[in-house]
Formats: sequence, structure tokens, C-alpha cells
Amino acid sequence: MTNVSYANTGEMRVYALFCGGDFMDMAVFDPFDENVGTKVFNPYFSYLITHPKGNVLFDTAGHPDLATDPHSRMGDAADAFVVKMGPDDWVVPRLKQLGLEPADISTVIQSHLHFDHTGALGWFPHARVLVQRTELDFAMNPPVYQAGAFISADFDSGLNWDRLDGERDVFGDGTIRCIPTPGHTPGHQSLLIDLPSRPLFLLADAHYLLSKLRQRVMPGFLWSPDALLESWDRIEEIERQTNARLVVTHELDFETSVPKSPGEFYS
Ligand SMILES: [Zn+2]
Repeated sequence: MTNVSYANTGEMRVYALFCGGDFMDMAVFDPFDENVGTKVFNPYFSYLITHPKGNVLFDTAGHPDLATDPHSRMGDAADAFVVKMGPDDWVVPRLKQLGLEPADISTVIQSHLHFDHTGALGWFPHARVLVQRTELDFAMNPPVYQAGAFISADFDSGLNWDRLDGERDVFGDGTIRCIPTPGHTPGHQSLLIDLPSRPLFLLADAHYLLSKLRQRVMPGFLWSPDALLESWDRIEEIERQTNARLVVTHELDFETSVPKSPGEFYS
């Protein structure tokens, strides 16, 4: 392989893989925000975690057809939905920039199963896929108020599920831990990674914006406000215990706040 291999250094790193995004009304982030009525660019991310026992993906962002033929993925819901994904803005080309192929990923962890997090699962039939059991049950039969956020073709066949019932220490060494953070969906989970310089807590959609989590402001799209409140308290308790850096997936200022793969990473 002629690619520079950034990822196989033997040390733990986390690469944030930018995977395009969509244009969403500010009301989804906070229905009472002063900018409601304004569309904002909502980024998608997958994360590669390098670990001595194997490469891990946390979430798989959007399917490449969301950009080129959204109706084939979303049906009529695509009419009101504008995706912006360039040819490299999905998981497989982003891995390639790091010198990796899908076969180099042994474990995929899904925070939850909304379509902007599951799109590339079909490229990982060889991997074990960790998901909370309650999330899989919910996604297979979603209530009407969340049905539009799931694309069952992303996850309804050919995957090697590892169904979790609570916390999981992924490699048994304490370095990568799944922590249930329900509220956005019933089986939503976050990932606590014990990186050498500072622990990183990937919160996925535990809130869309960290500033709104701090203020205890409910987003416009959720499953349970009470579960969200409990999860936010738990997240901040872990933050106090570990001094972890908190990172949500859809942060609007990602261009300045998130390290740019392949050259930059969390370590
Ligand atoms: Zn979501």
C-alpha cells in the first residue's frame, strides 16, 4: 500500500472523520432559540479509534447515496431535506485517507441508529457491531414521531450484532467504555475513551450542542426529556471524575473546534 498509514502507530488516537451534513432549522437544536427559522449546517461525523487490539469505529455517519439520490434512501422525506456531502464525505474514503480499508475495522460501536449515524454499516459485515439492545428494538419498530429518522436498510440485515444491556468495557482494559446515555433515543450510548493526554467523552447526540446541554435546554427532537436530564447529570459526573473532554457530534462550530483528520487527531 502506497498510502501513508497515519493510523497504525500502536498508540491510541481518535480521528474525527468529517462526513458532510445537512441543513436543519435551529428549532431542532432548541425550539426556543432566538435563531429559530434559520437553517444551519448540521455536520455528520464518524470517529476512528486506534487501539492495540484493533481499530474501532464509533458511528458510521451517512450513506453516500444521501448526497446523490436521497429519495432512494429516504423516500418522500427527502423532499424537504438538503444534504451536502462531497465525494469524500463518508466513512470509506475518510478511512482511505488514513491508509485503512473497511476490513481493517474489527469493531463498530453505534451510539444510536438514526440514519446520519448508520449509513456505512453495510460496509462492515465482518465487524462486531455493539449497540444497546433497547436501541435495536426501538429502531426496528420506531414510533411515528421518530420513524423518519431511521432508514432500516442501513441496519436490518447482514450485521454481526453484539447487543448490550448497559455499560461495556470494549477490550476489557478500561480504555474504551460504552456508557448508556438515553433520552435522544431509548438506547443511546456515549463512548468514554481513556486517551494518553486527556480522556475523551464522545457524546454523539446526547445533545446536539454542548452549550445547550450545560443550560439544560431541551432539543426540539427527542425521546424522553426526563431520561435526557438524568443522562446530562451522569455525563457531567463522569466529566468531574475523569476531567474528560466532552464532544457532541453535531457541534455547529466544528470547523474550529474539531481536529481535522488525517493530519490532526485527539490523543
Ligand atoms: Zn440522532
